[in-house]
Amino acid sequence: MKIICIGRNYADHAKEMNSKVPEKPMFFLKPETSILGRNRPFFYPDFSNEIHYETEVVIRINRLGKHIEERFAHRYYSEIGLGIDFTARDLQAECKKKGHPWEIAKGFQYSAPLSDTFINKEDLPKDINFKLDLNGEIVQEGNTKDMIFSFDKLISYLSIYFPLKIGDIIFTGTPAGVGEVKIGDNLKGYMEDKLMFNFRVK
Ligand code: MG
Repeated sequence: MKIICIGRNYADHAKEMNSKVPEKPMFFLKPETSILGRNRPFFYPDFSNEIHYETEVVIRINRLGKHIEERFAHRYYSEIGLGIDFTARDLQAECKKKGHPWEIAKGFQYSAPLSDTFINKEDLPKDINFKLDLNGEIVQEGNTKDMIFSFDKLISYLSIYFPLKIGDIIFTGTPAGVGEVKIGDNLKGYMEDKLMFNFRVK
């Protein structure tokens, strides 16, 4: 199983990071060991002093495919969840400066808390609202209509490079409002007012 994450898929987030809006989807991978489920606590790693949350809608691939045409891409996923793409922003800044790959900043263990529940896309609106509540305050709010590249475009593009397999998941990018977490924080993620995850930072 692979975890593919899309960078800069919301213009407002690209702006807050002083990054350009990409012409093609920009992506990176996280290993399977980055998944954190069952609302288990996230233990703040000692190699970073600046862990940021990025709340993202996640789609799960349900059939094998490569070179998938955009018009058929909707057949390759039926369930949608919510996750956090935790990022060691201090390590990422160092990697960016040196032109190094980002994996240590993005793919460390438990860097991808994920909802246990995935919702059938038929039970969700076409444009999905999602938000993050940090210690009782909404800090991030987004709607998938603001994605630069739609789910179908992402699936089509990614499948040029990787065969997509059953169970693969795609983190589809974060809207503006990313920020730091601290030990003791409580993170609750909602998709269309349904509580998708609820965990603490320890
Ligand atoms: Mg992200």
